[in-house]
Amino acid sequence: MRGRRPGLAAIAVGDNPAAKVYLRNKVRACAETGLYSEVHELPGDCTEADVLKRIASLNDNPLVHGILVQLPLPPHISSSNVVDAISAEKDVDGFHFYNLGSLVAGHSTLPPCTPYGVMRMLEYENTPLRGQHAVVVGAGNIVGKPMSMMLLQKGATVTICNSKTRDLGLYTRQADILVVAVGKPKLVNADMVKAGATVIDVGINRLPDGRLVGDVDFASLLGKAGALTPVPGGVGPMTVTMLLINTIEAAQRAADAKGES
Ligand code: NAP
Repeated sequence: MRGRRPGLAAIAVGDNPAAKVYLRNKVRACAETGLYSEVHELPGDCTEADVLKRIASLNDNPLVHGILVQLPLPPHISSSNVVDAISAEKDVDGFHFYNLGSLVAGHSTLPPCTPYGVMRMLEYENTPLRGQHAVVVGAGNIVGKPMSMMLLQKGATVTICNSKTRDLGLYTRQADILVVAVGKPKLVNADMVKAGATVIDVGINRLPDGRLVGDVDFASLLGKAGALTPVPGGVGPMTVTMLLINTIEAAQRAADAKGES
């Protein structure tokens, strides 16, 4: 890949302020690390066909190795149609059915960035996973489900909780590793956590006073959890980092496929 610059294209549809902040952070991270990036802003009343057309042209663009579509999309556009239109080799968010399927099969190449970042943090901290009980609260497609798969593949015994789980604390108290990805402030407090547990807070919630908080009552867990990620500043920056890593990986693979390495 010598002499080639990994490139990321980001598509934003409509005027969602939170989505724009996330997108800006990703573009800034590309600039800081020397990756090429381009942003495609489409109006909120554009059609699904407009988005698919833009993706098709980016799929064919050799300067672009990674494509992401900032979610959520306006309700008249199907996220799954859009995500699946991205070439699997350029799906740096790891949301394409092919990439999700290969994750389940155990040979993922472009893993979903948020759970991938959590796994990197656990690895960096040498957190034991094999034979440990990992409890994942939240079973969304972007975080909870792929997170559970990744932990399972590392030999953890995994429990997945969702909104229908009766007595959430019964499960969270058993966790050696607790990952919370729901989107509800203070869902998990100190009474629900075993002393010494590793607690990863994926949630991002904006309070009415403007503060950003996670799903875990951070202050109550200090001194009880063995390790605890903050919000902001914990999983969020790792998600952006893994997006860059996936873009570099996709660029490397494209170069390998052309025999340019
Ligand atoms: P999602 O797709 O809406 O999934 C939320 C999950 O939480 C669902 O499985 C839901 O259960 C479950 N849930 C809701 N209430 C619950 C409760 N009281 N107890 C247990 N489970 C409950 O959301 P997501 O996209 O996974 O995102 C989750 C959170 O992570 C959000 O705050 C989001 O902003 C944040 N996030 C952060 C990052 C980052 O980089 N830090 C990245 C992505 C997302 P059902 O399946 O039964 O509906």
